[in-house]
Amino acid sequence: MQMRERHCPVCGADCTANLFAEANYDAAKLDAFAYASRKTPEQMHLRLVRCDACDLLYATPVPEAGALADAYESAAFDSGEEAAHAADTYIAHVLRAARRLPDRAGALDIGTGDGAFLERLLENGFTGVAGVEPSDAPIQAAKENIRPLIHKGIFYESAFQPGSFSLVTCFQTVEHLTDPAAVCDAAFRLLKPGGAFAIASHNHRAFSAKLLGMKSPIFDIEHLQLFSPRGVARLLEGAGFKEIDVRAVVNTYPAHYWIKLLPLPAKAQLIALLKATGIGHIPIPLPAGNLFAVGFKK
Ligand SMILES: [Zn+2]
Repeated sequence: MQMRERHCPVCGADCTANLFAEANYDAAKLDAFAYASRKTPEQMHLRLVRCDACDLLYATPVPEAGALADAYESAAFDSGEEAAHAADTYIAHVLRAARRLPDRAGALDIGTGDGAFLERLLENGFTGVAGVEPSDAPIQAAKENIRPLIHKGIFYESAFQPGSFSLVTCFQTVEHLTDPAAVCDAAFRLLKPGGAFAIASHNHRAFSAKLLGMKSPIFDIEHLQLFSPRGVARLLEGAGFKEIDVRAVVNTYPAHYWIKLLPLPAKAQLIALLKATGIGHIPIPLPAGNLFAVGFKK
């Protein structure tokens, strides 16, 4: 892959010398799951530096955008069960904010995967629902009635009408974007007055991240930046959002998925056993170090 240097993707400062961790990856070991959702962590990551002003860890150099788009297009997908749980978690947060929206007409989910969250939006009275997803495999896994709502490819603002959405969401995706500030600016323009942009992301300041250190699954080849509450608030402020609210998320996932995230030896056998006995499918809520942020276009 062709690599390029970059500055802080939130504030533009050059933090190249403020090293957080040297690159740690072996291109030969990256497989079809390297750019997949909710995969088994490989504990590989790009060179990471810190922007102290934004409390952001960001990768530099990063692969060229075209190479990343190709990697995502062909990424595998095997996490429909987890996607449904994530959609349940995030709709609860969105509905809290939705009371303040002008209406429920127009909702766009950037990085929608198999569209599980689009189903939740429809169940809760949202109309004009659309998703964007670069990977083929999750779109093929989408339900028949949801698949036509998903635009395949990298997010392009020009595919949508300015001022046409009450809600734009970007869940577990903002770490993967080559230019998160540009996407945030675009979300602002696509929203109606009073509309909201909601982000769910990892929090590198969370207790779970401290506990696991560099073995945390947040340090991953897919992640081009890692936010904290301060960083994500700065991202939203930079795009002009007001009344910003950032809070911790308790995610509920099946037991087998939590095991997959942990740095344990021989976990493949353990996961297979848990799935075979049914114990693995028991949903377990954990404060696993994610944050939910929302800002309004006022
Ligand atoms: Zn910065």
